[in-house]
Amino acid sequence: MENRDFLTQSIMWIVISIGISITVAMFIPFPYSWIVIIGIFLSWNYWRFRKMNKMGSGVGMFGSLSSPFSGNSVNYYCMSCGTKHREAACPRCGSKMKRVG
Ligand SMILES: [Zn+2]
Repeated sequence: MENRDFLTQSIMWIVISIGISITVAMFIPFPYSWIVIIGIFLSWNYWRFRKMNKMGSGVGMFGSLSSPFSGNSVNYYCMSCGTKHREAACPRCGSKMKRVG
């Protein structure tokens, strides 16, 4: 089910990105259209990355990228009380600050 959602979203993003590229290329002359398109995609990827990061807020890139897919390879340690856990927030003190260990 998650894979299907991911696929649907990926196709949707590809269709939207092609639409944006064509629209930009139609209205802006060649060398500048590329700059605009690249700028749009860079900020867009950044925005998507930020959105994905919200799920595992406070974690580094490695932890947030691996946590939705692999459930057993990464452990988190609460930065407030040091409890080892795999939840979004610490089950003991509720803090969302954690580090990967
Ligand atoms: Zn804690």
